[in-house]
Amino acid sequence: MEDARRHIPGTDTVLGHPRLVAAGQRLNRTTIKAAVLAAQERARAGEIGPEAVADAAADALPPAATSLRPVINATGVVLHTNLGRAALSAAAREALLTASGYADVEFDLASGRRARRGRGTLDALRAVVPAAEATLVVNNGAAAVLLAVTAIAAGREVLVSRGELVEIGDGFRLPELLTTTGVRFREVGTTNRTRVGDYASAAGPDTAAVLKVHPSNFRVSGFTSAASIPELVTLGLPVIADLGSGLLHPDPLLPDEPDVTGALRAGAAVVTASGDKLLGGPQAGLVFGRTDLVESLRRHPLARALRVDKLTLAALEATLRGLDPPTRVALHLDPAQLRERAGELAGRLRDAGIDARVVDSAGVVGGGGAPGLDLPGAGVALPVRYAAPLRTGRPSVVGRVDRGRLVLDLRCVSPADDPVVAAAVRAAAAGCPG
Ligand SMILES: *Cc1c(COP(=O)(O)O)cnc(C)c1O
Repeated sequence: MEDARRHIPGTDTVLGHPRLVAAGQRLNRTTIKAAVLAAQERARAGEIGPEAVADAAADALPPAATSLRPVINATGVVLHTNLGRAALSAAAREALLTASGYADVEFDLASGRRARRGRGTLDALRAVVPAAEATLVVNNGAAAVLLAVTAIAAGREVLVSRGELVEIGDGFRLPELLTTTGVRFREVGTTNRTRVGDYASAAGPDTAAVLKVHPSNFRVSGFTSAASIPELVTLGLPVIADLGSGLLHPDPLLPDEPDVTGALRAGAAVVTASGDKLLGGPQAGLVFGRTDLVESLRRHPLARALRVDKLTLAALEATLRGLDPPTRVALHLDPAQLRERAGELAGRLRDAGIDARVVDSAGVVGGGGAPGLDLPGAGVALPVRYAAPLRTGRPSVVGRVDRGRLVLDLRCVSPADDPVVAAAVRAAAAGCPG
């Protein structure tokens, strides 16, 4: 043991190994050195021989400087929160690169003077939603609601229906978030039914606004009713409509999803939405509405803490001005086309001796909206034992386990990736025969 330890190569020697020198092209010295120290430690513990230290260190290094791994989403869930919600369009990806260096985010190149931050993005939002007098972008949908409620009603009271006190996921409850800013919430109506009269009898001199929250992740059915925006407008209070899902215009595919334009036309004073749900852009909170109110949000001290970075501004503008983002494409795919792709993929896999067959597979919108809506489509069913190797492979392919089979739903898989998926399945099959 003593002997072996004396033979453990020194740090500088190990760092000179060709594999670690090569790693120096993509990783910094601190990262590489930490891997070397860990490998030396393993040798000292007798886990590996002294001659294996350099290879052990090189094997332990990540293939890239980010630990995030790209995933092929074969779950059929278009907006999968655990997989980063919306996949960005080619235009948005390109814009991220453009913005990643120095860029004229707050600078007018013609005059050499400071300019309004993110003006291109705000102009693009107004161009797509002409019904909005003014627009603002913040860090996410929750921040947009928080800022709207705080700027309009801090220290005062906001009316909200009992049926709309929602949890948006991971234990975050909108009412809890909003009360942190000193707004008092007055709950009106009941869980299943709230009428405009309930708001009217609750409104008093200290009421600053009505908040209407779209139940984007659940559905109440049966004996239900809710007050519409036009009804709420008759109360004479500003109506803040939190739509969440971020549809800018009505979409016949999603008849129950409210849209920003419709909410503004119905008389909402301020409308808030997410950038990375149905809009298919980067994480962002979008605010549309009356100029005076949006301006009061923009000038509120909290706005600085909720500000978006140049990457978000760039990707959001490109989402609005570029070709349809993957979210929109995935939502509107033709089931017959999906079935044809699934047939081709299954055929290729069967040719390789793999038990694969085409199945009907219903996709869903996911965390972004339209709860309960099925999107008819198709996928390839495989033995369930392939699930883990596909998940951990490179690239990672995440499917859905359904009734004892692994289903790869092709809705959110780019057709260009079909051969990549086929290769990944063949690799998984080779790794777990049987
Ligand atoms: C998703 C959602 C939010 C939160 O938006 P994030 O962008 O996730 O912060 C708020 N309100 C509603 C109605 C939502 O659907």
